[in-house]
Amino acid sequence: MRLGALEAGGTKMVCAVGDERGNLFERASFPTLTPEETMPGLIDYFRGKGIEALGIGSFGPLSLDPNAPDYGAITTTPKLAWRDYPLRRAFAEALGVPVGIDTDVNAAALGEAVYGAGQGLDSLVYYTIGTGVGGGALVDGKLLHGLVHPEMGHMLLRPDPRDPAPHGFCPYHDGCLEGLANGPAIEKRWGISAKELPEDHVAWDVEAEYLAQMCANTIVILSPKRIVLGGGVMHQLHLFPKIRRRTLELLNGYVAHPSVLERIDEMIVPPGLGDNAGAVGSLLLAARALEA
Ligand code: ADP
Ligand code: ZN
Repeated sequence: MRLGALEAGGTKMVCAVGDERGNLFERASFPTLTPEETMPGLIDYFRGKGIEALGIGSFGPLSLDPNAPDYGAITTTPKLAWRDYPLRRAFAEALGVPVGIDTDVNAAALGEAVYGAGQGLDSLVYYTIGTGVGGGALVDGKLLHGLVHPEMGHMLLRPDPRDPAPHGFCPYHDGCLEGLANGPAIEKRWGISAKELPEDHVAWDVEAEYLAQMCANTIVILSPKRIVLGGGVMHQLHLFPKIRRRTLELLNGYVAHPSVLERIDEMIVPPGLGDNAGAVGSLLLAARALEA
């Protein structure tokens, strides 16, 4: 079947057409301006493509309670033009097909659990470490929601003594994960772009410390079978061994399962779908919307 996928991001909207097996046939990218400027181009893209359903993985916060009147709307986002915008409804009305929606990181978690680095697992957490930091979780085969949905990027961490900017840069929180560990925070703290920092720079030890705290917190809270780390910053693959080693130190043997103690290399991994996790996950959200 032909399905549509939309990765709705704060800087760009990536539209794609594919199928329920995670194959992507074509894609196009549009800048995220205001809804009035951006939506017509997205709707035009999907019209005439013969899609049977659309799946959206979106930036948030989102209303994800299917019984709420604003289901599928973007709610209190700092991107003011999109505040209270009924994203799901707009596509459902314009395209006349079922539309599934979840957070961008939940979509990526689903993609990785079905076709990526966690194939067949019913329990997995996906983090993106990029312009922002966010986490999505599959728990007992279901994407995790709650009162709203998790905001793992804003978990509070303890400062690293080597960090010259230990409060981080989140406008809301002193010392939260996103404010300490996203790409822009690395650049502000050290005055060099993250891409250009040499591998032996202390910046990467500090980054690995924060991402290890994130992994240790995740392991004790959600007990996932795998943690997939994606996003631009994780293109620095040398971070993985550092993060794994430090996660083990922080847990200090307490979670005494062989997947942690003996196979941490298979527990904390890069995405199997590379930068396509969100698009593939959105196709799966479309397939689920069609079934429902
Ligand atoms: P977004 O989060 O906007 O969807 P990315 O996941 O690509 O996009 O994240 C972009 C951020 O990741 C940039 O702010 C940059 O700091 C960082 N980044 C991108 N590529 C690299 C790289 N090769 N090494 C380190 N950091 C990178
Ligand atoms: Zn924060």
